[in-house]
Amino acid sequence: MKFNQNSTSQSNAQSSARSSGMGTLYVVATPIGNMDDVSSRMRHTLATVSKIAAEDTRRTKRLLSHIGVDTPCFSFHDHNERQKLEWLVQLLESGESIALVSDAGTPLISDPGYPLVTELRKRNMKVVAIPGPCALVAALSIAGLPSDRFIFEGFLPSKSGARLTKLESISSETATSIFYESSHRIKACISDMASVFGIDRHVVIARELTKTFETVLDASVGELVDILENDVNQSKGEFVVMVRGAEKKKDGLCEESKILAVKLSEYLPKKQASKIVAEIHNEKKNLIYQYLLTL
Ligand code: SAM
Repeated sequence: MKFNQNSTSQSNAQSSARSSGMGTLYVVATPIGNMDDVSSRMRHTLATVSKIAAEDTRRTKRLLSHIGVDTPCFSFHDHNERQKLEWLVQLLESGESIALVSDAGTPLISDPGYPLVTELRKRNMKVVAIPGPCALVAALSIAGLPSDRFIFEGFLPSKSGARLTKLESISSETATSIFYESSHRIKACISDMASVFGIDRHVVIARELTKTFETVLDASVGELVDILENDVNQSKGEFVVMVRGAEKKKDGLCEESKILAVKLSEYLPKKQASKIVAEIHNEKKNLIYQYLLTL
């Protein structure tokens, strides 16, 4: 087990990094729209590191000029991340501290940075979070959907077949499911959800959070198909789509599991059918077996 003692305050982290002679990578969350969502710790970090690794240097420079910081930036994105990794490790080893930022929100959350952070942790180097905006957390905090358990799936596949397969694989998930979506695909995504989850499933779409046209649509997925069809503005911007989890019935099973169990039991012994359904839908096989016996 590795124990990397990241200090709770930035100045402590900096001084322990200095004493070990190594720099620190600060993973810095930036605004998801509203430039005033900048914390003083975020500003201080960006102002005091020697360099900023930025997904898009032009975007980051706009943010830096808004907060009056002129630290040099270099590009660090999905396509050059692995090439620049060794060079970045060397900079940190030589004592420079670096900030990692993405275009918006928290790095690594559907954004670059995963290989770098994994590598630094493997080498027991210092990685410190400067927390702040994150679209999925902001959206969930206002959705009114269960937030005690949720799964984050990032972006759905762009091709319809793969998207439907992915949605089917989570159709019986009982936790709230959260997706990122773009304006190009929001309509297709919602209509695929209607066909896989049924038109009654409760879905909340958070659009353009923290921006001028922030909108929260809270309806059944069938109603959302109609809204998107009739109001072109609702397909513009950036989206977080949140789906209420499938309901567990009194017998502890969701509807999709029962349907599949009945179908499979037409061809297989009940025990075998129960085992397969339990694996696919993450249910208890005994409950499925009991259910089949009651039919
Ligand atoms: N790392 C970011 C975060 O912490 O949220 C997410 C980056 S991902 C490349 C961009 C996606 O996040 C957008 O396509 C959208 O789905 C979501 N997103 C970002 N900003 C948003 C906003 N202001 N309102 C709604 N969704 C947003």
